Amino acid sequence: MLTKKIAKNELNNFYQSKFDYFRRVSFLSAMLTGLLEITYFISDCQIFGRFAYETLVPRCSVILPLLLLIICEPRIKNYRFGVFLYYLIAHASMWATIWAIWFLPNKDFAREGFIIMHFAFLAIGLGMPVAYHVPIHSLVLLNIIISNTWNHYEHFDMMISLAVPVFIGIIIIMLILENSYADQYLIKRELEKTSITDNLTEAYNRNKINEIVSDDETEQLNIPHAVDVVVLMIDIDKFKRVNDTYGHDAGDKILVFLTEQIKRCIRSSDMLIRWGGEEFVVLLVGAETEVGLKIAEHIRHSVETTENEVCPITISVGVSKYDGGNYREAVKKADRALYYAKGHGRNLVVHYDDISDEDLLDYPKSE
Ligand code: GH3
Ligand code: MG
Ligand code: MG
Repeated sequence: MLTKKIAKNELNNFYQSKFDYFRRVSFLSAMLTGLLEITYFISDCQIFGRFAYETLVPRCSVILPLLLLIICEPRIKNYRFGVFLYYLIAHASMWATIWAIWFLPNKDFAREGFIIMHFAFLAIGLGMPVAYHVPIHSLVLLNIIISNTWNHYEHFDMMISLAVPVFIGIIIIMLILENSYADQYLIKRELEKTSITDNLTEAYNRNKINEIVSDDETEQLNIPHAVDVVVLMIDIDKFKRVNDTYGHDAGDKILVFLTEQIKRCIRSSDMLIRWGGEEFVVLLVGAETEVGLKIAEHIRHSVETTENEVCPITISVGVSKYDGGNYREAVKKADRALYYAKGHGRNLVVHYDDISDEDLLDYPKSE
């Protein structure tokens, strides 16, 4: 079962991912279904033994939904709209067929036509949730039954007994496909997660920043409330000493401890990134400077006063406000403030705006 692999609260993401992946196939299949519907005018002419002007309008009636598809398709983002639009073409073709059959002197070939329709639903439905596909596809059978009341198909019973196994077989194929896409989805999700996560601390790593920065040269933060972001640059004081005294493994424990402390002081919408070694950047999203400074102080204080299993440690924090421009500028400012804290006793929170111009000149050129 799909819900054994994908949690219920993630189904929406899963269906969206499946839609995005198969979208092209579903769209082109919908286009093809509409176009094939028109070409079946040729078989109508063969049945009539002349130009079948009666079925020209029914067959061409799919042009309108096809135009709707061409116009609306590029605007679709959510899979639910895709479901509506693509299946609309399938159903329009179905009803165009039923309409055309009404004029045909020999309705025996309708059987083949409806079998082809099932395969059109299979191709269109590849990008759709099977849970949606089953009721929508079963309407094909219902349409045949309803239209029989006026089309009076020859061998109606054969038509149904041929169509039902095809319908069931297609649903089974679609369930198998959806299940195997679920495996792909889970692997992809795991890879995406590990590519932005630091192994040791499980904070984000630097790759995370690429996800939230605009692709162009401006390198602006591309997140809601980006103009209200406060940047913290956090560095453990005298960390080399911890490693030298207690060993590298103990140092690693301190890094995990620090991550826990920071996470305790920030919200889930904020971002904690291990910037390198024992340096962390925190993006406080939607925060004013005053709030940012309070949170920084809260982190510094809780690291200093909370016991860990290795040794007491302190941190220094540089703070800057993101101004809506290149994010690197704000990180650089936070780093300068951190450098100032290191030069003025450590175990301090320093706001970039509080550093005098003379002190700023002290900043090492290489950094
Ligand atoms: P300062 O107060 O000036 O920051 O002094 P510091 O000793 O902390 O100096 P610095 O920031 O240059 O030291 C970084 C140290 O962090 C050096 C390196 O041994 C240690 N380190 C970096 N990454 C890791 C890691 O993954 N695990 C451990 N245990 N140590 C690390
Ligand atoms: Mg340090
Ligand atoms: Mg450092």
